Amino acid sequence: MTNPDAIVIGSGPAGLAAAISLRQGGASSVLILDRDDSAGGLPRFCAHPGFGWEYTRRLEGGPRFVARLLAQLETDAVRIATSTTAIAVHPGPEVEIVGPRFGHTRIAAPVVVLATGARERPRSARLVPGRRPEFGVLNTGQLQQMVARRIPTGVKRAVVVGSEHVAFSVLATARKAGISIAAILEDGARIRSYPPAEWLARLLGTRILLKTRIEEILGRERVEGVVVRCPTGALTVPCEMVVFTGEFVPDSVLARDSGLMIDPATAGPIVDQYGRTSVPGVFAAGNLLRAIESSGWSAIEGARIGLAAARHLRSAGRWRPSGATLTNGRGVSYVVPQIWADDEIGSFLPISLRASLDHNRAQIRIVRNDEVEWRGRMQSMRIGRRLPISSDTIDALARRGGEIRIDIA
Ligand SMILES: Cc1cc2nc3c(=O)[nH]c(=O)nc-3n(C[C@H](O)[C@H](O)[C@H](O)COP(=O)(O)OP(=O)(O)OC[C@H]3O[C@@H](n4cnc5c(N)ncnc54)[C@H](O)[C@@H]3O)c2cc1C
Repeated sequence: MTNPDAIVIGSGPAGLAAAISLRQGGASSVLILDRDDSAGGLPRFCAHPGFGWEYTRRLEGGPRFVARLLAQLETDAVRIATSTTAIAVHPGPEVEIVGPRFGHTRIAAPVVVLATGARERPRSARLVPGRRPEFGVLNTGQLQQMVARRIPTGVKRAVVVGSEHVAFSVLATARKAGISIAAILEDGARIRSYPPAEWLARLLGTRILLKTRIEEILGRERVEGVVVRCPTGALTVPCEMVVFTGEFVPDSVLARDSGLMIDPATAGPIVDQYGRTSVPGVFAAGNLLRAIESSGWSAIEGARIGLAAARHLRSAGRWRPSGATLTNGRGVSYVVPQIWADDEIGSFLPISLRASLDHNRAQIRIVRNDEVEWRGRMQSMRIGRRLPISSDTIDALARRGGEIRIDIA
């Protein structure tokens, strides 16, 4: 096999959009790797509408959105190798892969884009007590795969843990599979998704139990119910399935194993505004950078990083030049990118940052070298909501170097 110009690891929206841009930017051959048996990433299993908006300005189902991206790659210059896992990226860069098609080997390319996405935290990591029934404890992604692949669930009632956007995606999936949702459990005082999600749940007759956490999963081989602790005391909710939703974390095993610098705030690789990581030739895009943004947002990141990677390919410029650092201050859980470089190789990543506290009449501040340089007001800010700061605002400040901190006062 001849070495490609670029290797993209992960064929979700970010990886596919990166490959499209790499080609548009002049890469003559791109190899896309995915460990799954078909390309498209997470959206393949979510038929409900709502995918791709920021990228295509269309609201379509996940499979349709990725089919649109894949259609743009139908060319001899792009190869997609599914069932192929990247297990390390070595200096060069050189990607070590394992899979039935190529066996265990290494492939070199001047540019590698990591787009390995994010995954939900499993039950084991959430320390939920009780027996460990073999059947009936899933996360959203697993349920959606089962339903999309038409695998019978044999389940009539389920309980959903968590109230981020994906919890409400389960409502649509469960309905399709003939499963009724006995309750959505949220340990906070309000749901984490937007108010329309609550209206949808009401419309479908689903109870949302606030200030309620799961205490025990009942059942030996199969789930028989859950014990929950709500403000009025303990309650047993009979069900045959528990779906743990949200609490996404970047799928950064490959990035860590390959020695990329990781940001403790995001648990993903540290990048500059063009997606350059700490390892020369290696870019990163999509939900690997932080968990999580939408599919359209991830695709935009992929597209911009693909163009920067193509430009790097043509000019092989400096790598990780000096620049400003971006950090999260009070009330902000993370900031991506973490470095604002002082050279130019493409258009910037959109700034991705989220609130970590609830605020009424919040003031967002950008502080450079301990001086407040920019202020913005918001009526209310809720945990997990995106803060509206544009890349151009950051660019204007960060080009002067120094330490930039974003906080909420
Ligand atoms: C239940 C659910 C509902 C959602 N609903 C919406 C919605 O309504 N609207 C919306 O916009 N977004 C939604 N999202 C979010 C959306 O799916 C993500 O934003 C999007 O998929 C992120 O794209 P990505 O390319 O970063 O990662 P992914 O789509 O996760 O793709 C990553 C790919 O990398 C591959 N991979 C990982 N590691 C390796 C490796 N070592 N070697 C090879 N391949 C590897 C994986 O197999 C996967 O195919 C939802 C997500 C979930 C889970």
